[in-house]
Amino acid sequence: MAHYTGLIEKYRDRLPVSADTPIISLNEGNTPLIELKNLPRLIKKNVRIYAKFEGLNPTGSFKDRGMTMAVTKAVEAGARAIICASTGNTSAAAAAYAARAGIACFVLIPEGKIALGKLSQAMMHGSVVIQIRGNFDDGMRLVQELAKTTPVNIVNSINPYRLQGQKTIAFEIIEALGDAPDYHALPVGNAGNICAHWMGYSESVCEHTRACALCNGKCEYHKEKTATRRPIMLGYQASGSAPILRGRPVENPETVATAIRIGNPVSWQQALAAQKESGGWFGECTDEEILHVQKLLAQTEGIFCEPASAISLAGLLKDLELGKIGEGTTIVCTLTGHGLKDPDIAIAQSTRPMTVDAELGPIERVIRDNLKNI
Ligand SMILES: *Cc1c(COP(=O)(O)O)cnc(C)c1O
Repeated sequence: MAHYTGLIEKYRDRLPVSADTPIISLNEGNTPLIELKNLPRLIKKNVRIYAKFEGLNPTGSFKDRGMTMAVTKAVEAGARAIICASTGNTSAAAAAYAARAGIACFVLIPEGKIALGKLSQAMMHGSVVIQIRGNFDDGMRLVQELAKTTPVNIVNSINPYRLQGQKTIAFEIIEALGDAPDYHALPVGNAGNICAHWMGYSESVCEHTRACALCNGKCEYHKEKTATRRPIMLGYQASGSAPILRGRPVENPETVATAIRIGNPVSWQQALAAQKESGGWFGECTDEEILHVQKLLAQTEGIFCEPASAISLAGLLKDLELGKIGEGTTIVCTLTGHGLKDPDIAIAQSTRPMTVDAELGPIERVIRDNLKNI
């Protein structure tokens, strides 16, 4: 197999690039699709649940998929600087890809509301980090104004190339499973990613399923398509930051899942369209439910994702319990970012390590005590 060099090279025939486009890549994409082995047994449901672990992208979130495209196209167009508003992960990705491209990067983040790991990335990659006394929605509004008055290229998801890159997640899932899953669950913040997923699934589906079954996959249409169907899309928002569920913008969104702390999503209407077209729905989870499932996943499956990512599984587990999703189905959850992004949250909800003298006795006692409980 050829050395993997990123999603643009792999899917260049399905992306808006030409042979001359200077590709800016960190070999993003190609993330693992991990079947959850213990959770279905624990909840006593006969379902197949897969985690698409986007935390294993180069900067630790799915934002790299969109950023490789956005920065590639910005460089192709001659841009010397990019700008974004961010709840954290967009700034981390923008900073890294700008460094790779040798262009400047400006990021606007809400003061005190971004996870430490993400902030460290934006700073380390040498972007200009501007904290604003406001939230993400304020930053988004300012960035759109700034792009009119200064020579900077916006790399938020209103940049259409972002969604083009992000749609490749669906291609990878179809390749891994042989077809689309029955359901796909994911967190919804600014709502770009749910649209990108839907775009990727839609571009992959063979609408001539019956005819193609007859042709045995040999007709011209089938040759270009890789799936026979599209999944039902499930989008989850945090209860304190759920504008789509409330049907109106949320003035002061609040949630522990800072990556989806967004009160007025840019891709709201397109997200509604994807939900309706797929026959899916939106749901919400409280911060307690999010953190519970983040820990549950870490401790039952060995997968450490950030709080915003855990909502895809938290929402799914609720809907499974309610019987909204039938047995025998296949479900993919996008785990959008790595748990290491937000170490404060992880430490705050875990037992503090104990301290003992550097001697055998006390440590042996700890081991014996703990083994008793297993
Ligand atoms: C950006 C982000 C989201 C939200 O994605 P949208 O496209 O804004 O809906 C969810 N989780 C993580 C970890 C993110 O970084």
